[in-house]
Amino acid sequence: MATDPVCYMVIDEDETDCRTHYKGQEFYFCSDFCRKKFEQDPDRYVKLARSMDIGPDISC
Ligand SMILES: [Zn+2]
Repeated sequence: MATDPVCYMVIDEDETDCRTHYKGQEFYFCSDFCRKKFEQDPDRYVKLARSMDIGPDISC
């Protein structure tokens, strides 16, 4: 399982078509909405994903 770095929803890699590569890592998203948010400012969300105690940026 993976975590949507934007809303922190748990994502099943086999179930989603919303994914993107960034700096050699693969990220999965619950929706195109979160994927677009990530692609607008990937560094911000990569940082958030590394420090889960900050909490999600948005909820969806
Ligand atoms: Zn999401």
